[in-house]
Amino acid sequence: MLRAQRSTVGTMPAVGDLVRCTNGAWMVRTPERCRRGHRLGAGRVLVGHQPCSCRGGHTSWACLQCGAMAYGPPLRADCRVLAGPAAVR
Ligand SMILES: [Zn+2]
Ligand SMILES: [Zn+2]
Repeated sequence: MLRAQRSTVGTMPAVGDLVRCTNGAWMVRTPERCRRGHRLGAGRVLVGHQPCSCRGGHTSWACLQCGAMAYGPPLRADCRVLAGPAAVR
């Protein structure tokens, strides 16, 4: 049951966008899956914060199954992460 990612831009908030929670607080939307396709649900992902050369850094999600890191907002070409796990390629 594969679904194309980013196929519905405009109807769903992009990963890393701020979205309104049911309790009214703002939070960064968690990616549904890591880039290897594992579901990132409760207990399956380690949420952290990645300091970066850009302002504010990035929220980071580490897949506990394969270790793949996802960032929100996504890393840009000129992003230089300052500490923590290096980008795994
Ligand atoms: Zn994974
Ligand atoms: Zn950055």
